[in-house]
Amino acid sequence: MIVIKDLKKAFGDHVVLPCVNMEIKEREVVVIIGPSGSGKSTLLRSITHLEQPTEGKIFIDGEEIDDKTNIDRIRAEVGMVFQHFNLFENMTVLQNLTLAPIQVRKMSKEKAEEIAYRLLDKVGLRSKADQYPSQLSGGQKQRVAIARALAMRPKALLFDEPTSALDPEMVKEVLDVMKQLAKEGMTMVVVTHEMGFAREVGDRVIFMDGGSVVEEGTPEQIFNHPQHNRTKAFLSKVL
Ligand code: ADP
Ligand code: MG
Repeated sequence: MIVIKDLKKAFGDHVVLPCVNMEIKEREVVVIIGPSGSGKSTLLRSITHLEQPTEGKIFIDGEEIDDKTNIDRIRAEVGMVFQHFNLFENMTVLQNLTLAPIQVRKMSKEKAEEIAYRLLDKVGLRSKADQYPSQLSGGQKQRVAIARALAMRPKALLFDEPTSALDPEMVKEVLDVMKQLAKEGMTMVVVTHEMGFAREVGDRVIFMDGGSVVEEGTPEQIFNHPQHNRTKAFLSKVL
């Protein structure tokens, strides 16, 4: 579903990702772990061209993303959920969910609202449809952000530390929604420090350090039998 080929990303002469190769299969849940500053966010952002790759190629569902690609369409096909929610604060929850389907997918308002209500049911927030983000808790905001991403009927979802900004008691409600999506077969790439989630839900865990993939494998391989010293050192700090 997503193929990353020899991706290099530099900011000026600061090379953040020297050369990343990665393939994410349809229905696969890939969890990316690694220390702060290792390039995890830059990698996710490069997939949807929120950051312009310096070199290399990205393919989404077989189609190469380049300068000629309609980026709005790609961002509709690969949704992104951020640490800080990035909801439109001046819009209601319902409007947050219907804006892009109407504008980008050219859906009718009625159809977009019908889908939005169904997704709000799914994340347990139908009763909040007419409220504004400022009236919601962090966990509720993140569930709205996930519903908003789903409203575009994406082929894959990228999560960048979706629970890192949440109070501890709200982490579970967000992880539960993500777990449900995984069960339904959504293709997902999840950057997280929630090792329990990685172990339970991940099909594959990738450890990144210094902008490179150091090691990858099943959760069992990575957590119980890490091969590299850098992986072992990282895990000893977070487990
Ligand atoms: P992670 O998500 O793993 O913490 P990031 O991808 O955010 O790592 O950052 C990796 C490196 O890239 C850091 O050294 C960071 O300072 C640098 N970086 C990220 N975004 C930019 C930017 N827009 N301009 C310059 N440097 C950046
Ligand atoms: Mg990050």
